[in-house]
Amino acid sequence: MTDAASDCLFCRIVAGEVPAEIVHTDDHTVAFRDIAPQAPTHVLVIPRAHHRDAAALSASTDGGVDALVRAAVKVAEAEGLGDGYRLVLNTGQDGGQTVFHVHLHLLGGRAMTWPPG
Ligand code: AMP
Repeated sequence: MTDAASDCLFCRIVAGEVPAEIVHTDDHTVAFRDIAPQAPTHVLVIPRAHHRDAAALSASTDGGVDALVRAAVKVAEAEGLGDGYRLVLNTGQDGGQTVFHVHLHLLGGRAMTWPPG
């Protein structure tokens, strides 16, 4: 499923129907600030096309995973995260995914801990 889903929150952000603080766009991705930030910088990078999770995106043939990572690196540079950052793809129920339009979390601006909760 890659068409915009009318009941998908993140498809509605891509379409401009739901407001978001967008920090980067390109032909394949949109990046916007998380509404409940877990770090000084917390940006979600999403494909414009609807894929429910990382598995669906990786099974597609449009290079979507590369596009997400490339966009996240650009945002990290623009946000001045030269000391490092974390990229997270929560996937499925046990992965803690709550919004089923795949999104890459970019977290930075503080030292991260390990393991994650
Ligand atoms: P996940 O739990 O990995 O599915 O992450 C979903 C993320 O989407 C959470 O960090 C939420 O805070 C974030 N989120 C939910 N609704 C919005 C919204 N309208 N604008 C920005 N971020 C959102």
